[in-house]
Amino acid sequence: DLNSLDKIVSLAKSRGFIFQSSEIYGGLAAVYDYGPLGVELKRRVNEAWWTSMTQKHENIVGVDAAILMHPKVWKASGHVDGFSDPMIDDKESKRRYRADMLIEDHIRKIEEKGDTERAAALQQQLDTCGTRKSMTEDLYDIIMAEEIRSPDSGAFNWTEVRQFNLMFSTQFGATANTEDAKVYLRPETAQGIFVNFNNVMNTARQQVPFGIAQIGKAFRNEVVARQFVFRMREFEQMEMQYFVAPGSDEDWYLRWKEERIGWHKSIGIREKNLRFLDHPQDKLAHYAKSAVDVQYRFPIGWQEVEGIHNRTDFDLSQHQEFSGKKLEYFNPQTKERFVPYVIETSIGLDRCVLMTLCDAYREEEVTDEKGKTETRTVLKLHPKLAPITAGIFPLIKKPELMEKARAIQAELSETWRVQFDEKGSIGKRYRRLDEAGTPYCITVDFETLEDQAVTVRHRDTMAQERIPIDGLERYIRDQIKS
Ligand code: ATP
Repeated sequence: DLNSLDKIVSLAKSRGFIFQSSEIYGGLAAVYDYGPLGVELKRRVNEAWWTSMTQKHENIVGVDAAILMHPKVWKASGHVDGFSDPMIDDKESKRRYRADMLIEDHIRKIEEKGDTERAAALQQQLDTCGTRKSMTEDLYDIIMAEEIRSPDSGAFNWTEVRQFNLMFSTQFGATANTEDAKVYLRPETAQGIFVNFNNVMNTARQQVPFGIAQIGKAFRNEVVARQFVFRMREFEQMEMQYFVAPGSDEDWYLRWKEERIGWHKSIGIREKNLRFLDHPQDKLAHYAKSAVDVQYRFPIGWQEVEGIHNRTDFDLSQHQEFSGKKLEYFNPQTKERFVPYVIETSIGLDRCVLMTLCDAYREEEVTDEKGKTETRTVLKLHPKLAPITAGIFPLIKKPELMEKARAIQAELSETWRVQFDEKGSIGKRYRRLDEAGTPYCITVDFETLEDQAVTVRHRDTMAQERIPIDGLERYIRDQIKS
C-alpha cells in the first residue's frame, strides 16, 4: 500500500534519513532531525536549488538573514495581526486546547467506549485532511458531525472561536517579560530579503529586474501538525524574491511559473506527479495579485510543495511606511523612480526532500541468482541528489582487492560521498545501497588486478558494465549529467 506515508516514514527511520526530534524523550510533535543519509539528501536539494537560482542567473544574488528580526517587521508584514489559524476555546473548563489535540482527545474517548471502527474512521479523516486552511475547516466538520450525532453528549461545548497566532515568540535581552522585549522566530524567510532590499541593490550593483535568494529556517506553531515532514513547526524555506518594474509583473510571474516547474523536473520528479493549481482571484491573500501552487502527488494526495506569487509592491510599500525609509528603484535611463513589484517563489526544503523520497520510492519484484523472486526496495533518486553516489566493494576480503578498492575510494571521495562496504554477499550490499538511493556500485574483483577495470552496477536497471579505473571519475560525472 503506497497510499500513505507509512513506508516512507519507516524507511526514513530505519535507514537514517529522518528521525523524530528528541525521540528518546517521546519526541516533540512536528519537529524532526535529519540523520546521516537525510542530511546529505537535504544538502543536495538545497544545493540544486541554490545553484539553479544564483549560479545560473547573473541577476540573482543570495543573502542569509538572521532568524530574529526587529519586531516591527512583523507588524509591517501583517504577521502580527493576520498570521493566525482559528482555535477553539472551551468556555466550560476554561482550558484551551488546540483543535487537533481536542479532536484526538475525542477520538480516544470514542475508542475507549469500544467504537473502534468509528474512532478509526475519524482518525483517518483527521490524517488525510488537506492543507492547513482546509484542515481546520475539516476539523470543524468533524466536531459538528459529533455534535449532531449526540447533541447531549456534552463532548463539546464550543461557543467561541479564537484566532491563534502561528508565530513563536521569545524574550530578547535581559529585560525579560515585558511586551517590548518580545521578538519572533521568523515564520518565513521573505521578510529578511525585503528589509535588505536597499543594502543588496546598492552593494551588488543590480538593476531591476533582479532577484534575491535565501535558504533558511522558518518557524510556525502549526495548529495541526502531522503527516511527517510535510508540515513541521520548524522547517526550512528556499525563497526567491524577484524585483520587477510595475507593468512587467504578470509577464515575469508567468516566466517564473515555467522556470520553477522545469526545476522540479530537473531534480528527477516525474512529470505525471506535478501540476499547477492556480488560486482563484477571490481566494488570494491580501498582498497577492496572482498566485499558483506547484503541487506534487504525495501518497496522501495532491499537495502544495511550492508557491509562486505576484506580491505587487505590497511588501516594500509596507516597509517604507513602517520604517520611514525609501525602498525605491531609480531607473537611470528613464529617470523613473518606483517601488518595484515582487514575484516570489517559495518552496519548503523539507517538503521538497519528502517529495524526492516519495517520487523515488519503489518496490520491485526481482529474481536473484538462484531464480528466487524477492522484493527489492529501491530509491530511484536523481543521481545528483543521492546521499551516497557510489558504493565500492571488494569482491571478497582479500588484501589485494581491499587495497585496490581503498585506492578507488580515496580518489572518488575527492568529488563525491562514497561508501566502502566489504560485508556480506555482493547481492546484500547492492540491496543496502538500493535503499539508500545509491546509483552506482563498483566491484573490485580478481580480474581487476589484471585488466585495471571494475564492474559498475546501475541501481535502476541493475545492468552491469566493465569500466577502466582511470576513466571511472569521468564516467560517473557524465552519468550524473545525462
Ligand atoms: P499551507 O497552506 O500548506 O500552510 P502556506 O500557503 O502557508 O502553506 P507558504 O507560506 O506559501 O505556505 O510557504 C511556502 C512553502 O513553504 C510551502 O509551499 C511549503 O513547501 C513550505 N511550508 C510552509 N509551511 C510549512 C510547514 N509547516 N512545514 C514544512 N513546510 C512548510
